[in-house]
Amino acid sequence: MSDRIFNLGAGPGVLPEPVLRQAQQDLWNVAGSGMGVMELSHRGKVFDRIIVEAEAACRELAGIPDNYRVLFLQGGASLQFSMVPMNLLPKGGTADYLVTGVWSEKAVKEAKRLGTVHEAASSADRNHSYIPPASAIRYSASPAYVHFTTNNTIYGTQWRTEPAPPAGVPLIADTSSDMYSRPIDVTRYGLIYAGAQKNLGPSGVVLVIVRDDLVEAGATDLPTMLQYRTHAKDRSLYNTPPTFGIYMMGLVFRWIRSEGGLAGMAERNAEKATVLYDYLDQSDFFRGSAEPESRSLMNVCFRAPTEELEAKFIAEASKRGFEGLKGHRSTGGMRASIYNAFPRAGCEALVQFMQEFERANRAAAVS
Ligand SMILES: *Cc1c(COP(=O)(O)O)cnc(C)c1O
Repeated sequence: MSDRIFNLGAGPGVLPEPVLRQAQQDLWNVAGSGMGVMELSHRGKVFDRIIVEAEAACRELAGIPDNYRVLFLQGGASLQFSMVPMNLLPKGGTADYLVTGVWSEKAVKEAKRLGTVHEAASSADRNHSYIPPASAIRYSASPAYVHFTTNNTIYGTQWRTEPAPPAGVPLIADTSSDMYSRPIDVTRYGLIYAGAQKNLGPSGVVLVIVRDDLVEAGATDLPTMLQYRTHAKDRSLYNTPPTFGIYMMGLVFRWIRSEGGLAGMAERNAEKATVLYDYLDQSDFFRGSAEPESRSLMNVCFRAPTEELEAKFIAEASKRGFEGLKGHRSTGGMRASIYNAFPRAGCEALVQFMQEFERANRAAAVS
């Protein structure tokens, strides 16, 4: 640790230390090539191995079947809000969206530019503090696809299991803030996308996992770069891909594998989140923001008795080496993002600091 603090930021977020150490070396000279990883031609042998191995490690972790393409694209998760309906929402068609926060709302906004959106469920009535139960979901008659957000980064809620769309309707997920934090059954999805900068690598690259029949079914009248088939056909090498981001994702995938794979991640993430939620549940000073059965294992959102105390808490935490705790501007409060690479020791240290803060400020809260 020494010169590194506890980074609880929501994204770009903390990366595994062994990955950063390896990258330090490879920036200078990667694989004995005499060139740094950012200086490689994307058409050269060294980079070819990097992208092939990154894809292989990605496939191995989730057991991705052969009839799915793994793509490394640009434009962030936000461009997927557009690319998904551009490719998969036919003219005159309807797409169903499960609206559980700001990111789902942004996805809806882009789909509405292109076709009809049916909001099959929404948690807006209680400020997105919960995940709608299956009984509250009302699908339209024949949606082109069903879209949902697996983890709501801003509100700290997370789907426990995926919703069940009507038979034959592809399920599409924005998994930006919990991808590979737990096992994922890819066969239940038509398309999965995740901006890398929360759990998988640096910003600038998006992981897209898409089933072959959806690649083929995609609209053909779109700009070349916006069609999934372009990138599927050329294995993400139609144009210069985000080479450094792909390299980093490859390292992160291998780090996940060395830590017990997705099952290992799930176990550790559950333990880490329990440290924080157990403390929040017994505190009469701090309180968790999300409804307990919908709580995220990635983003733990919580409040203090007053906004003044919250500002004081965030400022003092920063002095003690806990960065990134300020909640999203649309919710206020605090948010501890404890992605895969965030250590359990950091959760324990944070609870200790919260206990101290609670003791020192309880009087201010009741007076
Ligand atoms: C951060 C985030 C996004 C936005 O990602 P960009 O890569 O900045 O476009 C979208 N969805 C979710 C769930 C996020 O957490």
